[in-house]
Amino acid sequence: MENKCCMQCGSPIKGRRDKKFCDDHCRNNYNNQLHLNTTMMMRQVHHILRKNRRILEKAALNHPEGAPIPLEPLLEEGFLPGYHTKVNLDAEGKPQYFCYEIGFRMFENHIILLQNTLAKAA
Ligand SMILES: [Zn+2]
Repeated sequence: MENKCCMQCGSPIKGRRDKKFCDDHCRNNYNNQLHLNTTMMMRQVHHILRKNRRILEKAALNHPEGAPIPLEPLLEEGFLPGYHTKVNLDAEGKPQYFCYEIGFRMFENHIILLQNTLAKAA
């Protein structure tokens, strides 16, 4: 029979075949570590989304309604267009991205904020 090793400390495991850890201590450490990694990853994503929202909100205040907003300065501020909270397709099937309540359309070099979301954002 093959020797299994503890998923936390790597020590050989004796006893039941389906055991994954040598004891409760190792199992708890392993699960805590997993949980911590998930929490940190989620925190990073939340941070990015909050920053994106802040950048979009500022852009909304500094540009007239419906005006193209150049993408480059937003990217320089740290805007990450790949991070958004929702994508809707309009009647023509074109995507409308949302960062929380702020909606925008993506073009090659600029974005245009959705007008009906501006009032809510301001
Ligand atoms: Zn162990």
